Amino acid sequence: MKIVLTNDDGIRAEGLRCLAEHLVDLGDVWVVAPDRERSATGHAFTLHEPLRVTPLHGHGHKNARWYSVSGTPADCVYLAVLELCKGADLVVSGINHGYNLGSDIFYSGTVAGAVEAALRGVPAIAVSTAWAKRIDFAPAARLCHALCHAVLKEGLPPQTLLNVNVPPAPGDPRKEEAPPATGTLCWTRLGQRVYRDQVESRTDPRGRTYYWIGGSVESTNDPPGTDMHAVHHGLASVTPLGLDMTHADLLERLPGWQLQGFEAVLLQEHQVVAGGL
Ligand code: MN
Repeated sequence: MKIVLTNDDGIRAEGLRCLAEHLVDLGDVWVVAPDRERSATGHAFTLHEPLRVTPLHGHGHKNARWYSVSGTPADCVYLAVLELCKGADLVVSGINHGYNLGSDIFYSGTVAGAVEAALRGVPAIAVSTAWAKRIDFAPAARLCHALCHAVLKEGLPPQTLLNVNVPPAPGDPRKEEAPPATGTLCWTRLGQRVYRDQVESRTDPRGRTYYWIGGSVESTNDPPGTDMHAVHHGLASVTPLGLDMTHADLLERLPGWQLQGFEAVLLQEHQVVAGGL
């Protein structure tokens, strides 16, 4: 089995090291990750400058190959799947330091790494844990190990991925406690993670205005069955995501719209028409 790991916290992040340690027994591991933090870069792609790949020798677990890339998580997965590790069976992105819940998936570099794999036909998992100064990544790595096993056995439908969020284990993370024999998880759908709308406008020493964007998380009342609800109740959440964002109901209703000067056409397969505006 060929497994590719990436992240958006950078190649030196503890979450990535912990993930590699836990997954080396599943197969050959290629770690292909950004050379610096690339959190919240979404699915950014580097097309206007060269990408440099630096093999890191003697870095992390000895049974994994490590490559530092001067690009984003999406760049890393593209390079890994098409060049560095052709024929990869699985891509895992994480373990991100901070949850990726609800609408976070649109901003997250971690999720984008897994999305890039799914777009290229490789089964993929994105995994994140809570943001805290001292966090134990092992519980997330253990669940990820079990999920990798299942995905390699069961497969995933095309154009899908799993988004995993694991809350910290209760108890004192400083104590070396044996992991529980059986863990728990919830299969979930996306909730709504709401951030406070915030634009902070300031003035620089030269009298010009500059901005800081992005507010803090606001508490929401997400219903049971959502990723937000599970994590809020201390349970790990696994959400299957599909890449087809077409809204089926809206697509049904749109033909009822009147567009001045335009007529909707229903194309049949192999039908040739003279279209145009
Ligand atoms: Mn991150």
